[in-house]
Amino acid sequence: MNLTAENHRVPLSDGNSIPLLGLGTYADPQKTPKGSCLESVKIAIDTGYRHIDGAFVYYNEHEVGQAIREKIAEGKIKREDIFYCGKLWNTCHPPELVRPTLEKTLKILQLDYVDLYIIELPMAFKPGDAIYPKDENGKIIYHDTDLCATWEVECHPYFTQPKLLEFCRQHNIVIVGYSPLGTSRDETWVNVSSPPLLKDPVLNAIGKKYNKTAAQVALRFSIQRGVVVIPKSFNPQRIRENFQIFDFFLTEKEMKEIEALNKNIRYVELLMWRDHPEYPFSDEY
Ligand code: NDP
Repeated sequence: MNLTAENHRVPLSDGNSIPLLGLGTYADPQKTPKGSCLESVKIAIDTGYRHIDGAFVYYNEHEVGQAIREKIAEGKIKREDIFYCGKLWNTCHPPELVRPTLEKTLKILQLDYVDLYIIELPMAFKPGDAIYPKDENGKIIYHDTDLCATWEVECHPYFTQPKLLEFCRQHNIVIVGYSPLGTSRDETWVNVSSPPLLKDPVLNAIGKKYNKTAAQVALRFSIQRGVVVIPKSFNPQRIRENFQIFDFFLTEKEMKEIEALNKNIRYVELLMWRDHPEYPFSDEY
C-alpha cells in the first residue's frame, strides 16, 4: 500500500474508508485551557490530518465541531474530506438512548453526521444525568446492558495485539489503536509503572537512522501494519511532527524488531472498574 500525506485511507467493509492517521483530542479538562482543542484541530487540518477522534465525555467536542466548521467555511476542506469519530458514553448504553445521545453529539458539533460512532467502553453505568453515577459510598453504579458490539483497542509497540490483529485481518475489520504513543502518563487513569514507550532505545535508534523521533517511528510502525492511529497532541510542533510519517519506510527487519518489543502491557487498564461484569481487559484477544 502506498501511503502518502494526501491519501492514507484504508477501505472499510461498508464501502467507506478511514485515514490511517488521525488526531486524538482527549486532554484533562481541568488542566487544559479552553480553546486549545479548537486551535489544535485547526492546525491539524491545515497540516493535512483528515481524521479526528473525539467524544462527548472529553468535554471539548464543541471545539472540534467549531474547528471543522471554520475550516469548511474557509474553503480549506469539505465536510466529506473529514472522518470524525464520536463515542457513546457508558451511561447511554440502553438501545433506546443511542439515537438521542448521538443527536446530542451532532448538536454539540453542529454537524449533520459523524463518520463513526463507537461504544467508548463496554462497561455500562446507570443511565441518567450524572456522567459518573455514584452510590452513597462513592462507588460507580454499574448497569446491565447486553453488549453485542466491539470497541477501540489500545495498540502500540509495547502492546502489539498480534492475535487480535490476525483475527481482524481475516474478517476484514480495521483496528483503531488508541494511545499509540503510550498515553499522556496521567496517573489518575494510566498504569505509569509501565515503561514510557517513547524512551524505548530501539524506537530511538531506528528513528536516528531516518532522522525521525521515537513517536514518528511508533506511528509509522502502526500504519505500516494497517492499524489506524489517533495520536493526541495540542502542541503545534508535535501535531505537525506526528503527521511527518509518510516520507520514510520501515524495512521488514525493523518492523520485526519493533514487533519484538511487545510486552503485553496496557497503559489504559481502568482497574477501578475491574469488578464490572463487562470489564474487557481480563479476556485474552
Ligand atoms: P497518546 O499515545 O496519543 O499520547 C498523547 C500524549 O503524548 C500527550 O501527552 C501529548 O502531549 C504527547 N505527545 C504527542 N505527540 C508527541 C510527540 N511527537 N512526542 C512526544 N510526546 C508527544 O495518548 P492518548 O491516550 O491521548 O490516546 C490518543 C487518543 O485516543 C485520545 O486523545 C483519544 O482521542 C483516544 N482514546 C480513546 C479511548 C477510548 O475510546 N476508549 C481511550 C484512550 C484514548 P502534547 O499534547 O503536549 O503534545
